[in-house]
Amino acid sequence: MDKNKGHLHPLTIIIQDMVTIFSELGFSVAFGPEIESEENNFDLLNIPKDHPARDMWDTFFIKNEEQKVLRTHTSPVQIRYMRGKQPPFRIISPGKTFRYEATDLTHEAQFFQLEGLIIDKKTSLAELKGTLNYFLKKIFNNENIETRFRPSYFPFVEPGFEVDMSCSQCEKKGCSFCKQTGWIELLGAGMVHPNVLKNVGLDPKKYQGFAFGVGVDRVAMLKYRIDDIRLLYQGDLRLVNQF
Ligand SMILES: [Zn+2]
Repeated sequence: MDKNKGHLHPLTIIIQDMVTIFSELGFSVAFGPEIESEENNFDLLNIPKDHPARDMWDTFFIKNEEQKVLRTHTSPVQIRYMRGKQPPFRIISPGKTFRYEATDLTHEAQFFQLEGLIIDKKTSLAELKGTLNYFLKKIFNNENIETRFRPSYFPFVEPGFEVDMSCSQCEKKGCSFCKQTGWIELLGAGMVHPNVLKNVGLDPKKYQGFAFGVGVDRVAMLKYRIDDIRLLYQGDLRLVNQF
């Protein structure tokens, strides 16, 4: 390809690939605004005011705008999508998210997330695992990738999990890429908390679902072996011309 004609940024390529893979599983794409109400970003996701869990998200507040924030995750799109609609739902939501924190090799104040949500009369952790396995095998183009779930806490899911992916470089033998553990931390996931369903007017006795969030930058860094997240946002042609 003639690089002088312009081409897509690696993050755009990854997001397009993710959308294609999840479309194969019947997911449609939903979007929401980057400036979000505290209610959608926190309260309705079962993260009440003054709850210590809120400290998990370092937040940019909008000056002179009451109760508005730069969204700290793509989860508020779930709230917007579910409110006033009847399941079944099967959506993904890619987009920019923001955290008030110092930048380093693995942290940026702005990054991309992709959120997934399924709500139906019956879903299961097995379906969640199957969905994530399908996605990871496809995006990394590696049939041998496995996942493992570790119990974790996120206020909007119960039970909640950190999901690790088997190292795509060493097939679990241990290498510098996976810090010799054979596994790479990649996702947060879980069954949607009944309070979140109640908050959008759905009966948790009738409906259940699961949600997951994956760092788009992290996937791009793993797939393309980029070791500094900041490189993705500097517009340096020496990087972007490689795609
Ligand atoms: Zn490894």
